[in-house]
Amino acid sequence: MFKLAERITRENLIKNGEFLVIGGPCAVETEEQVRKVASALYDLGIKVMRGQLWKPRSSPDSFQGVGLTGLPWLQRIKEDFGMIIATEIVDKDQIEPTMEVVDVPWVGSRNMQNFELLKALRGNGTDQRPVILKRGASCTIDEWLQSADYIGRDRVILCERGIRSATDSTRYTLDLNGALVVKHDKRMPVIGDPSHPAGRADLVPALSRSIVAAGLDGLVIEVHPDPANALSDAKQQITPATFREVLGQIKAVYRAMDLSINRADLS
Ligand code: PEP
Ligand code: MN
Repeated sequence: MFKLAERITRENLIKNGEFLVIGGPCAVETEEQVRKVASALYDLGIKVMRGQLWKPRSSPDSFQGVGLTGLPWLQRIKEDFGMIIATEIVDKDQIEPTMEVVDVPWVGSRNMQNFELLKALRGNGTDQRPVILKRGASCTIDEWLQSADYIGRDRVILCERGIRSATDSTRYTLDLNGALVVKHDKRMPVIGDPSHPAGRADLVPALSRSIVAAGLDGLVIEVHPDPANALSDAKQQITPATFREVLGQIKAVYRAMDLSINRADLS
């Protein structure tokens, strides 16, 4: 079991010269599924697991997530593996129950401008847990930063997850330019999501390498034990075996950049 810092803050997740890797399924589906992923991540030394309890879907007929039913499953993963849990919060009423278990809440692209949710996440300022803010697919850098201001810029980790562009050959376009502008000009931590812009698993390794090579602070990647039968984003999720390969590539690129991948303060 990982031994982690008592309180997870942005500073002990994101550090200069270290690269944060978050892995896990698109959605929490069953306890068996999330435990399989957690165990695979644990074996690879990955300390932060993602997984959505609520799924904002384009179609009401698509899987909407297991909701709070999955929270005890995540709690047991924390207890058994010492994993840091990241999940999306889609409504302000979910903040209180979810934050009982979840260490790193995130705001998804569709909610980047849900200002009531952003205000509620700011809370009373005493909770300093980091919040990942994914970029809206059609939002500008300025809009992204203004949304970060609602939560409090010092707690936010920005996540570039692909924007809509003239490209229709992939799901979205990973805007590394934009991510770099924010990182360099605003000194904000920025991680990348290779899974959603790709929309297909075979492009995920190369996009992951490009996120590392660009010098972003980390990445969040979708890993599922059986992607073909995933209840959401089936085409883009990678297996733990592929994730192991991708991780090897990430480390190689990172080493080539003369940086270290281990997060000493989390263990
Ligand atoms: C996700 O992370 O699974 C997700 C739905 O992401 P986004 O909000 O970027 O579309
Ligand atoms: Mn997804």
